[in-house]
Amino acid sequence: MTEEIQPIRGMNDVLPAEIGAWQHLEAVTRELLSSYGYEEIRVPVLERTELFKRAIGEHTDVVGKEMYTFTDRGGDSLTLRPEATAGIVRALISNRMLRGQRHKLWCLGPMFRHEAPQAGRYRQFWQVDVEAVGCPGPDVDAELIALSARLWQRLGLEGLKLEINSLGTPESRRAYRARLIEYFSQHEARLDADSRRRLGGNPLRILDSKNPDMQELIAGAPLLTEHLDAASSEHFEALGRMLDGAGVRYDINPRLVRGLDYYNRTVFEWITAATGAQNAVCSGGRYDGLIAQLGGEATPAVGFAMGVERLVALLVAAGGTPPAAHPDVYIVVSGARATAEALAIVERLRGERPRLRFELNLGGGNFKAQFRRADRSGAPLALIIGDDELARGVLGVKPLRVESGQSECPIDALAAGVDRALATLGSG
Ligand code: ATP
Ligand code: MG
Repeated sequence: MTEEIQPIRGMNDVLPAEIGAWQHLEAVTRELLSSYGYEEIRVPVLERTELFKRAIGEHTDVVGKEMYTFTDRGGDSLTLRPEATAGIVRALISNRMLRGQRHKLWCLGPMFRHEAPQAGRYRQFWQVDVEAVGCPGPDVDAELIALSARLWQRLGLEGLKLEINSLGTPESRRAYRARLIEYFSQHEARLDADSRRRLGGNPLRILDSKNPDMQELIAGAPLLTEHLDAASSEHFEALGRMLDGAGVRYDINPRLVRGLDYYNRTVFEWITAATGAQNAVCSGGRYDGLIAQLGGEATPAVGFAMGVERLVALLVAAGGTPPAAHPDVYIVVSGARATAEALAIVERLRGERPRLRFELNLGGGNFKAQFRRADRSGAPLALIIGDDELARGVLGVKPLRVESGQSECPIDALAAGVDRALATLGSG
């Protein structure tokens, strides 16, 4: 036997049994974002490697060791996007959409990071990305966070906790960086290899370490909050007041830093106790410097990304996904003439009743086998197209979920007959 081709580790198939939860999440998200005035944008999965290096930062894990980078046939270095913000900003610049204009955008799609695969952490994973471009104030931050809170409510997800923090300005961060290097250098023997590597380049990243052995040292580190500039403190306090006013509960986590370098001022993360170690379901923050850093006109912006797989897992665990759709009508076919004419009859019905689901029996089978399939389909009603019936200009009509005999319906009044039969069964 020919050897089968293995899937790529950390890259999942979403099978029909799971797709209902995905579609539900997507539909609720799409509707909510639209109601807040966000418009969808779709950007390429591939970008120039340079874009991510410049946007995300050379010293981050993502750029340092997780990117899927290759040289294409033209000799360009390209990378499968590890996140969406850089590509969206690139699109705003490439399409000359900035010029003092505001944009509220969202994007759904797969991201790629060469991480260690485990439950909730994959190498291809999906994100919903939401970005508000052009406003500096804390009001946008607050509304964006309120929007995410409302999404959990619409999805019926309980028990998500919000943490917020302020990273201040690049200047206040520089002062803090010096203090951190001083602190961690004093304890260099206790740093793990990753943290030692980060110490010279980006010591803030050490705070984001997921190594349990590092947590005690991290807990003793100086706090960024003590080094905030006045304007950032004000921004942060205003955000807190607006969230309070809107009834969005949060904890201030002074050690919350984000995995990507471009953030300033507001950062936030929604976490759950449910998915074990992979507990972040949605994270984001303000990135006022990024657009200029990528060659666009300086424009403030704030955004977040949520992890679809982690949210789907929560949805499924909470039983919050709608039941799978079943056909309204199963069409049983018997005889040579019936087989030849069945498709034409069902297509006419589909044209007349676009909201109903018709499952036409394909591939033949005797009556018994066809009724077994009809039962398994979950349809409440069967139509029977047989040669005898066709000769008399009628079809058989038989309820499947209740004890009831078979009746007949004229072919030229079929749609109305189906309506009537479904109505008496309380469906359709
Ligand atoms: P984590 O701390 O879990 O590594 P992150 O800080 O790298 O997350 P972001 O880059 O901000 O996360 O991405 C936003 C969201 O995308 C995360 O909150 C998480 O829900 C999801 N996410 C990130 N990386 C993965 C992954 N490898 N597999 C599945 N989901 C992920
Ligand atoms: Mg990460």
